[in-house]
Parts: sequence; C-alpha cells; structure tokens
Amino acid sequence: MVADPFDRAVRLLARARSCVALTGAGASTESGIPDFRSPGGVWERFRPVTYQEFLASEEARREHWRYKAATVPEMLRARPNPAHEALATLEREGRLLAVLTQNIDGLHQKAGSRRVVELHGTNRETECVRCRRRDPIEDALRRWERENEVPTCLSCGGWLKPATISFGQALRPEVLDEAVRLAREADCFLAVGSSLLVQPAASLPLLAKEAGASLVIVNLTETPVDPVADVVLRGRVGEIVPRLVARALAEARVSEEREPE
Ligand code: NAD
Repeated sequence: MVADPFDRAVRLLARARSCVALTGAGASTESGIPDFRSPGGVWERFRPVTYQEFLASEEARREHWRYKAATVPEMLRARPNPAHEALATLEREGRLLAVLTQNIDGLHQKAGSRRVVELHGTNRETECVRCRRRDPIEDALRRWERENEVPTCLSCGGWLKPATISFGQALRPEVLDEAVRLAREADCFLAVGSSLLVQPAASLPLLAKEAGASLVIVNLTETPVDPVADVVLRGRVGEIVPRLVARALAEARVSEEREPE
C-alpha cells in the first residue's frame, strides 16, 4: 500500500538520526519577510547591486545602502515562526545536525537553533570590504540615516557592507565546505521554503541524496529537485514543518520504547 506523502515524510524523519535542514526565503515569509521571487518580492522594488559595482561606484554603494536601510530594520524586528521553532526543537531533541540556510535574517538563531550555517552571510552585521572587521549592523544603519553617507570602518576607513554575499561575490569557502560535509553526513535531508534554483543550495540536496540520505522537500511551488525527492510536500512551511516534526518525534519515541538500544 502506498502511504500518504505526509505519513511517508513522518516515517523518514522519525527513522533519521542525523537530519540536516536547508532553508530558503520561503522559511521566513510567514515571519513577514518577503522572498525574492514571489509576487511582491524584493526584486520588484530594488535592483540587485553586484559586489563589483559596490567596490567600483559611489552611486552603487549608496543604492545598496538605500535598499538595506529600507529592508534590514524590518528584518531585525521579525520574529521566528513555527517552522523555525520546529527545526530548533528537532535539534534540541538530538535529531538535527544543523540548519544550512540561504537566509540572512538570523531567525533560526532567534528560534534557538545552535548550529546554523549561513551560506549567504548575514544582515545582522556589517563587514569592512578592506580589513574584514565585523560589527553589529545597527550602528552603520544609524550613521547612514544620520549622515546619508556610506558608512566606513572605524578601524581602517574602508567601506562597510552588510555581511551578506552579494551577486558576483564568492561564497566563503569554509562555509561552503561545512555545508557540503553536513549534507554528505545527513541520513535525512529536509529542504524547506527554497526554490532550489540558486547555487549551491540547489546542489546540496543532490549531494545528500547521492551519499544515501532520504530527501523531503517542503515548498509552496515546484522546484527542479522535486523529481529526485523521496517526498514532496506542497504547502506553507509554518503549517507543515511543525506538524511533521511533532509527529516524527512522537513516532521515534514510540519505536525507541519498543526497541530500546
Ligand atoms: P526564493 O525567493 O528563490 O524562493 C523561495 C521559495 O519559497 C519559493 O519557491 C516560494 O514558492 C517558497 N515559499 C514562499 N513562502 C513560502 C511558505 N510560506 N511556505 C512554503 N514555501 C514558501 O528564495 P531562495 O530560493 O531562498 O533564494 C533566493 C535568495 O534570496 C536566498 O539565497 C537568500 O539569500 C535571499 N533572501 C533571503 C531572505 C531572508 O533572509 N529571509 C529573504 C529574501 C531573499
């Protein structure tokens, strides 16, 4: 008998000992942070400034800071939603190795997740493009609002950029290596709220699958990786992920009571 997809996902997660989750912008839309591609998404309002443009042109730096000033304060105020909380619970219960995230909003950490690999960096800090000094972003935002000048580094005078990976900027190799290692270590890979169109996020579930993990995708819309997934659950992450985690933890407890190790 073919089980219902949700029940199959519960079974895969309940059996897993070292699950790894990958989250995209869809994990945070229910916290009020729009994603990039859906209608009303960020790219309908702002043009992305590449890293090369940021380094080369004052107008591009100003454009980037205008965009960040318009979006980051809201992101810093956002609260985790039930999907972030469920993933934090799964980690606390010793069943989730890590969250790999494309998000830059820090909501997994706010929900209590401890091991979070931020593939695209973070909006919570700035980084000096010259000396790499990092600071909380609030001070740079205040300076931008007050002086309307691109904020500069208090150590070396270099330009400050929110510590996210811009278009045209390479991912940090050590961050990518860690994500790849974790994806290969996973026995169950859970992709949550990601269109899986952006690299390297799109390749991580495939790496996990090649290394023997089961693959569960939770997303509102189709992804190019759906055909190789063991289960695809179509819907809102804030509704599906907490139910999935609660049921899987309950099922895992029952089977452990039946077969004590
Ligand atoms: P994306 O915008 O390409 O895709 C998001 C996916 O989530 C879409 O397929 C959409 O259908 C789905 N989705 C939206 N709301 C959902 C919900 N409630 N439940 C289930 N699915 C939902 O985002 P991406 O694939 O993550 O990649 C784009 C890049 O945008 C990311 O790399 C990230 O750096 C950046 N980004 C981050 C944030 C954030 O930090 N919250 C927000 C916007 C963009």
